[in-house]
Amino acid sequence: MRVGVLALQGDFREHAALVRGLGAEAVLVRRAEELTGIGSLIVPGGESTTIGKLADRFDLVKPLRDVIAGGLPTLGTCAGLIFLAAGTTGPSQIQLGVLDVVVERNAFGRQVDSFETDLSVSGLAAPLHAVFIRAPIVDKVGAEVEVLASVGDDPVMVRQGNIIATSFHPELTGETRVHELMLKLEG
Ligand code: GLN
Repeated sequence: MRVGVLALQGDFREHAALVRGLGAEAVLVRRAEELTGIGSLIVPGGESTTIGKLADRFDLVKPLRDVIAGGLPTLGTCAGLIFLAAGTTGPSQIQLGVLDVVVERNAFGRQVDSFETDLSVSGLAAPLHAVFIRAPIVDKVGAEVEVLASVGDDPVMVRQGNIIATSFHPELTGETRVHELMLKLEG
């Protein structure tokens, strides 16, 4: 199994290590050609405006849109969720628009307001320990989007067909179940 990890900016190394720990091959993606031959894709956390600008500069926006809209199982975490989304509540930025949600960036406050909590996730038997770092929340969800977990009333994990996206960082806590869910998705 070959898992592409978008490696423009952010914590792609942590995702790649986790994927290798699951026995899969991790392919760092920086060019459109590197999307060929992967069976799934991870869009890591980091800074979503930077990821968008770099994706534009590397001519990756349309190729990414095409493979994800074409059904490639995809996981986006934190900034990755923002980059996959259709819009934000703030100023416009480069987004793929493949996930029918509007997100509010930095919705829990600043870096100092980062926090950890145990989430109950639909489809997982035991709670999932989640770390939120300047995390977004999902403000509006489209009809095709299923909310898998929330903090209070705010969705923080969603699924739309072949896409799973989280506001938190499953790659930083020794958690593997979110990645395993994504690897099982079919387009
Ligand atoms: N605050 C970042 C953004 O808006 C996301 C933070 C993260 O990925 N940990 O892009």
